[in-house]
Amino acid sequence: MSDVNKNAVEHTLIEKITSLCKRRGFIFRSSEIYGGINGFWDYGPYGVAMKRALESLWWNFMVETRDDVEGLDSTVICHPKVWKASGHLDKFGDLMTDCRDCKARHRVDQMDDKTACPNCGSTNLTDPREFNLMMKTFVGPVFDEDHAAYLRAETCQPIFVDFHHVRISTRQKLPFGIAQIGKAFRNEINPRNFIFRSREFTQMEMEFFCADTDSMKWYEYWRSERIRYYKQLLEFRDDEIRIHDHGDELAHYAKAALDIEFAFPFGWGELEGIHHRGTWDLSRHQEFSGESMEYFDQETNSKFIPTCIETSVGVDRTMLAILCHAYDEDMAETQKEGKEKDVRVVLRLPAKIAPVQAAVFPLSKKLSEPAKKIHEDLREHFRSEFDVTGAIGKRYRRQDEIGTPYCVTFDFDSVEDGCVTLRDRDTMEQERVSAANIAEILRDKLDK
Ligand code: ATP
Repeated sequence: MSDVNKNAVEHTLIEKITSLCKRRGFIFRSSEIYGGINGFWDYGPYGVAMKRALESLWWNFMVETRDDVEGLDSTVICHPKVWKASGHLDKFGDLMTDCRDCKARHRVDQMDDKTACPNCGSTNLTDPREFNLMMKTFVGPVFDEDHAAYLRAETCQPIFVDFHHVRISTRQKLPFGIAQIGKAFRNEINPRNFIFRSREFTQMEMEFFCADTDSMKWYEYWRSERIRYYKQLLEFRDDEIRIHDHGDELAHYAKAALDIEFAFPFGWGELEGIHHRGTWDLSRHQEFSGESMEYFDQETNSKFIPTCIETSVGVDRTMLAILCHAYDEDMAETQKEGKEKDVRVVLRLPAKIAPVQAAVFPLSKKLSEPAKKIHEDLREHFRSEFDVTGAIGKRYRRQDEIGTPYCVTFDFDSVEDGCVTLRDRDTMEQERVSAANIAEILRDKLDK
């Protein structure tokens, strides 16, 4: 395929996903009736169900199923000195250049040819300038510099600041980690590619504190754990993710760093960063707060500032990666159903994060009561939806489009034989199963 055609296909895929997300209430522009606000997105009913399921999956993997990682939920606004200490206030920005001809603004590190505008090709560019990405606000009634505060640009800094609180209250000893899921804000110059780069987004971060001598072992450990998470839980294929090692391009305090990248329709993009941060963050907070950030190791009878390994991923980028992975247009399967040329749009979402895990339909409105009873039982265990409107085929298609793995249909025979039809999203196979055992049958299938 020529590059032009390939670009067109990729372009269409992201457009199709964006349009499906809007149409079916997953994700749409914030404040759209006012024309929207660039870089801000709202999650609708199906989007929020999927986002919460994804966050729970990460939380379960990183915190609940481990004894050595604790949770935290800190404020979005912290003492401004936190950001002075972290270096964000002095140097957290991108080098930007403006095209004097077409007025487009570009991040210099993302330009292949640093001398030409990627938009119009002009070489009439301004000198690169530094733009700080921190979002500023004021705390209290006086709007002056003494009352300035910042929305956090990453969720990890409060983890460092609260290190001792968490350690003492949980009696944790090294090595152990602290994890947090929450909003982060960056005044990105070029928000783009749907929810890939936004100005308000959610991060899931974990800082793992250890002795420096063990730090590379833990770095390797978290790298393989995080890959395991993407492959086993999110079902990403080998050709969809890759590791970009930073090699020698490291911050002065770091020993190693890598990005886990996903093959988005617009190219490879960073999904998660795994960073060896040395003792940088705790040392800086010790310096700026005057409080000791040292750890006393009883075994070696020594005091030191722990070394930290970070895993940092965006929820929104993961949502986009999952949607790209899951989106499918299924011609062959529809032909099986005898509907030539009809394209079935299907989201092949992992069952654990599908916004609806089971949809229950009465074949006719007259059967609503017993079907609704099944739905009410199922929703005690799963995310279940009841749908009574439209032809049954249309109802199946609606569920395929939002990624529902199983549909349960209650028909006139069900009244007699106590069985319902269970339909599989991926194979479209239908089987008759006992209505009384449907929760158990679904649990077996969804746990696979
Ligand atoms: P990029 O180079 O793409 O700007 P980054 O290296 O600045 O990303 P980090 O500071 O390491 O990103 O943030 C960790 C994770 O947070 C990223 O891997 C990404 O998943 C997510 N993230 C960062 N910035 C944004 C954003 N503007 N919109 C959505 N997610 C983001």
